[in-house]
Amino acid sequence: MAHGVTLIPGDGIGPEVIEAARRAIDATGVGIEWDRRDMGAGAFSRRGTPLPAETLASIRARGVALKGPVETPVTSGYRSVNLELRKHLKLFACVRPCKRYPGVPVVYDHVDLVVVRENLEDMYTGYEFEMGMEATKELITFIQGATGHRIREDSGLSIKSITEDGSERIARFAFELARAQGRRSVTAGHKANIMKFSDGLFLEVARRVAGDFPEIPFDDRIIDALCMQLVQAPERFDVLVLPNFYGDVVSELGAALIGGLGVAPGGHFGAGGLAIFEATHGTAPRLAGTNQANPVGVILSGAMLLRHIGEEEAGDRLEAAVAQVLAEGVHVAGDLRAAGDDRPPAGTFQVAEAVIERL
Ligand code: NAD
Repeated sequence: MAHGVTLIPGDGIGPEVIEAARRAIDATGVGIEWDRRDMGAGAFSRRGTPLPAETLASIRARGVALKGPVETPVTSGYRSVNLELRKHLKLFACVRPCKRYPGVPVVYDHVDLVVVRENLEDMYTGYEFEMGMEATKELITFIQGATGHRIREDSGLSIKSITEDGSERIARFAFELARAQGRRSVTAGHKANIMKFSDGLFLEVARRVAGDFPEIPFDDRIIDALCMQLVQAPERFDVLVLPNFYGDVVSELGAALIGGLGVAPGGHFGAGGLAIFEATHGTAPRLAGTNQANPVGVILSGAMLLRHIGEEEAGDRLEAAVAQVLAEGVHVAGDLRAAGDDRPPAGTFQVAEAVIERL
């Protein structure tokens, strides 16, 4: 029986890279019934909402989606339609594998990290207090009463919140992923020396959860030191588990280590196997409609999707075909051409065709 998967082309280069990835996934021979749905700026202009209820219903019904990048229209009333999607579906974990493939022009020979980012808490709670507003003044007065310290009136405030439950859930997810994928170690990133009750709680819970996985070595790093060491010697690290905000930054750092967002895959996971695999890059408006966008990141997200739905062998085959195309270095998009490499870049669909031929 065919697997049902929601397909969200998105905005900008989304429709091109998603179509390229869909063709490559279908070419593995795995039967997938795609349910094409709208989201983002295009959805807003066509339907008056960037996140139609039918799109959410389709993902809930199928449990899996492949999604392109989307733009959040300023007038839509949403801060970020991506954040809204993750909140609606309670996609608490973001997984960003950062693996360097031979042929990709980067500084490092060996990078094979998995960044596991908590997705729903931390600085992304949405509790924002604008400078000068009545609620902001009240909060400042409350904090003075509670701590004895006066915050200046010309302050804007953002509330960071990290829970014991949320930390336990993401730490457990990271260790289970490490166990399932036979990874070497788990490292937590934090700033517990400064934010004792938010990051401190995250670290304390991660240490506790580590006790349930005695076969997987666990350590931790203060986030600034982690960033420095990742750039100095990324091969020292394996699975990283991070609160939302640091996870956001370190995911992009990890993408830079392996050749950029054009080649970086990713997925968001919730309870009961619910998962959305996506382009980690944005809509790249400058490249939209030009057949120049690199589809490799989304194709690799497709390999993650195949493994997630139980099609391990097809996922491995798709990843191997991408690796071969990258190693050959002929059919690669412009973002992977090193300075001085004058060979013409391949178009989005040429890259996908080259991958399909090597399956
Ligand atoms: P971007 O990722 O679109 O572009 C950053 C740079 O990377 C640009 O130079 C772009 O040309 C290049 N790039 C991106 N994807 C590429 C690809 N596949 N191949 C080759 N080059 C690629 O980021 P941005 O400019 O900050 O954001 C543009 C829009 O995308 C904004 O509206 C933003 O909100 C949205 N966005 C969406 C998502 C998402 O839906 N997951 C993520 C990030 C940004």
